[in-house]
Amino acid sequence: MDSASIATAAYIVASLLFILSLAGLSKHETASQGVLFGISGMTIALVATFVLIADLADTTAVVLLLIAVVIGAAIGLWRARVVEMTGMPELIALLHSFVGLAAVLVGWNGYLQHQPFTLDSLEDIHNAEVFVGVFIGAVTFTGSIVAFLKLSARIKSSPLMLPGKNYINLGALVAFVALTVWFVISPALWLLVLVTLVALALGWHLVASIGGGDMPVVVSMLNSYSGWAAAASGFLLDNDALIVTGALVGSSGAYLSYVMCQAMNRSFISVIAGGFGIEAGPADDKDYGEHREINAEDTAELLKNASSVIITPGYGMAVAQAQYPVADLVRKLRERGVEVRFGIHPVAGRLPGHMNVLLAEAKVPYDIVLEMDEINDDFKDTSVVLVIGANDTVNPAATEDPSSPIAGMPVLTVWEAHDVVIFKRSMATGYAGVQNPLFFRENSQMLFGDAKERVEDILKAL
Ligand code: NDP
Repeated sequence: MDSASIATAAYIVASLLFILSLAGLSKHETASQGVLFGISGMTIALVATFVLIADLADTTAVVLLLIAVVIGAAIGLWRARVVEMTGMPELIALLHSFVGLAAVLVGWNGYLQHQPFTLDSLEDIHNAEVFVGVFIGAVTFTGSIVAFLKLSARIKSSPLMLPGKNYINLGALVAFVALTVWFVISPALWLLVLVTLVALALGWHLVASIGGGDMPVVVSMLNSYSGWAAAASGFLLDNDALIVTGALVGSSGAYLSYVMCQAMNRSFISVIAGGFGIEAGPADDKDYGEHREINAEDTAELLKNASSVIITPGYGMAVAQAQYPVADLVRKLRERGVEVRFGIHPVAGRLPGHMNVLLAEAKVPYDIVLEMDEINDDFKDTSVVLVIGANDTVNPAATEDPSSPIAGMPVLTVWEAHDVVIFKRSMATGYAGVQNPLFFRENSQMLFGDAKERVEDILKAL
């Protein structure tokens, strides 16, 4: 068997493993198995690529490939080791930007190093592939960089509101279609330069126009774009594994974005079109009144007398790494006969499933960790709610104030409980930058400080 057939067979096996990996990742219980399938698929694909390159008998190519793999693997291993769980989304955004950049480079290479086909129609298809690949890649590249900058708080998360922003996006898309037709008819270099610039600007503007609260959808949408960019590169390089993997990432990312939009009551089209139809709300200078404070001892007292407790964790629990003392607290309260459950918002934290991962890490039993829809009706019959480092996901303005930037997003209705204790360090706003009227409600009390330290204080007092 020649090396090309071996590689094709290996790519099919790798693609099947990637599909099994996605299936495994869809459930807690099978997630680690899913990761193993993914690693095996990637290893097989890499080895097959080596076999293909080695068969060319071009030492420079083999050496270059080895150097690239060693450098990439070293950086990847180092980043994966040092990254904090809370820094995961920005790392993912940065990785998507590399996929975008790679697609641009592959596209440019496909243009500059191209041996013309004898058939005109094949030539046209090749030119269209180059153009589409460069466009999707460049949009993904700058879009992901803006997402990275927003998620890591290096730039403000509020949406950029250029006048006529929807026309800018629409204009860029129309220009892309027109330039593609032109390029297929007459593939001039300047057209490729122009589409690269248009796509870089569009990617930047699309994501800059989307506000903080919608960033989870943007991250999964960029994940999808990076998949399509990889698939486009696969067509150019005539690489089946890249086409299949790109399509898997592209379609699963698109589906995840759709599911998240539904969970957040956002229009899918509006979010992928760069906040189309979303206008900036009026500045918030409302007087919410005074907040009340509570200390750890009094919170412990409240919990001792409670019959049911719901904990709604958020990003702050991840920052403080409070999941371990929280798990101890749960154990202690359950021993005392208090019913304790968790209410998990679909976008709590900074990545889908963030809270579930942390709670699983701290060995909290799965059966008391409930989704928002499963628990939202129970708050009214609950004695105490502990809001641990959550903010946007428990903001009543989403349901009560139509002018709020997060209006319409379903939230955990914690304020319906008898008592609410909110763990955070200050009165600062959450990720979406929106004031939270929950903090000023009659039945709310603020427990200031680092969430981990405060939970430990409560444990001591218990
Ligand atoms: P938020 O980001 O709204 O709020 C987190 C709160 O935690 C802050 O108000 C902060 O207040 C507090 N906090 C931070 N550090 C600590 C600490 N050490 N101890 C105690 N409190 C702390 O969190 P939510 O989880 O409620 O909401 C998630 C937000 O992130 C949503 O807007 C969502 O759209 C967005 N997002 C979600 C993604 C996802 O996929 N899940 C991805 C990207 C964005 P203070 O500073 O006063 O302590």
